[in-house]
Amino acid sequence: MEKIKMNVPLVEMDGDEMTRIIWKMIKDQLLEPYIELKTEYYDLGLEKRDETDDQITIDAANAIKKYGVGVKCATITPNAARVKEYNLKKMWKSPNGTIRAILDGTVFRTPIIIDSIKPFVKTWTKPITVARHAYGDVYKNAEYRVEGPGKVDLVYTSASGEVTTIPVHEFKGPGVVMGMHNLDDSIESFARACFNYALDMKQDLWFASKDTISKIYDHRFKDIFNDIYENEYKDKFEAAGIEYFYTLIDDAVARVVKSEGGFIWACKNYDGDVMSDLVATAFGSLAMMTSVLVSPEGFYEYEAAHGTVQRHYYQHLKGQQTSTNSMATLFAWTGALRKRGEIDGIDALVSFADKLEAASIRTIEEGVMTKELAVLSQLENKTIVNTEEFLLEIKKRLEEVL
Ligand code: NAP
Ligand code: MG
Repeated sequence: MEKIKMNVPLVEMDGDEMTRIIWKMIKDQLLEPYIELKTEYYDLGLEKRDETDDQITIDAANAIKKYGVGVKCATITPNAARVKEYNLKKMWKSPNGTIRAILDGTVFRTPIIIDSIKPFVKTWTKPITVARHAYGDVYKNAEYRVEGPGKVDLVYTSASGEVTTIPVHEFKGPGVVMGMHNLDDSIESFARACFNYALDMKQDLWFASKDTISKIYDHRFKDIFNDIYENEYKDKFEAAGIEYFYTLIDDAVARVVKSEGGFIWACKNYDGDVMSDLVATAFGSLAMMTSVLVSPEGFYEYEAAHGTVQRHYYQHLKGQQTSTNSMATLFAWTGALRKRGEIDGIDALVSFADKLEAASIRTIEEGVMTKELAVLSQLENKTIVNTEEFLLEIKKRLEEVL
């Protein structure tokens, strides 16, 4: 078979630990033998970030703006222990946070569904994608411990000096108080990212908040979503045969559990934090959770939802066998290659991504899987394979369909 050619490079962001090992194996075994892989390579491994004072992360994010599509390996977000372990100049920020700030995106998380791995919720037969607004609310709050009786107000001073005072509470004794905010701009780009993604996936979009109780704050979210839908997306949604649907958050939770899946659930920041972990766990394994950051301008960054699988990496360093699941990292690659193919009109690339995903799902359906999946799989005959064997088993099945 002749190798598939690419015109425009993918922005490739390498990472750390076990996922860095998997990254190379995926390229060597499953991509480069079949594609003349064209990437612009950025090493976001912690050593390189330290060496470049994290400029490499900023450069990578700007490259995604230039080329439109990136694929990222999991990276270490340094804490005090890592500063010591890697002898870092500084406790560098989370690369994902840096990239998100530059692209201004929304994160969509979708589980990879396998027939023989049943979700804990019996009715879920299709994936549920959680779209989380990643700005503001309780994550950028100002809070205060009230020690005793007294009065708390919210005070807004406009740029021209007018003062508006809103009473919060007259405390008779000790308690707590919090102020939080969000921005129309941020909510608007969140809404557009969700509407665009729903069109892309041809799936319904659900959004929920608590506007009956929060008549100004949450209501603003509801109004922004509604206005943007009516003015910019209604016709496109109708043409695609999909729906936008708003409800209260408590009603949404009940409907999600009773649903069969197959939709995108847009969540405010806190709801998204909680619900994405709930949905991921209910579907099975973190190693089967894909993640894509979509910017309002339509730039895409694909990655696995899990981290660098540190514990397995230390085993690997000691020369011990590992059974690390590469599915989410592999799907980051196929997602990025498919998107590149769609944008550049390279059908062979889209079809290759489809076949590689199908081959990897078939591998697990046929009973060949990594250790953590074997616990969840309902198949009777299972073969537990190590990290590399799993990729070679996928390769075998890929070659059959190419
Ligand atoms: P993690 O790497 O996601 O791993 C947590 C545990 O989940 C693992 O120890 C393993 O359980 C299981 N697991 C995760 N992915 C797996 C896979 N592909 N195959 C099999 N098992 C898997 O999270 P962490 O250990 O908390 O964090 C490690 C590093 O990753 C940290 O430095 C953190 O900063 C970074 N991180 C990066 C990202 C990102 O780049 N997006 C996201 C999260 C965390 P067992 O050990 O029980 O086998
Ligand atoms: Mg969380």
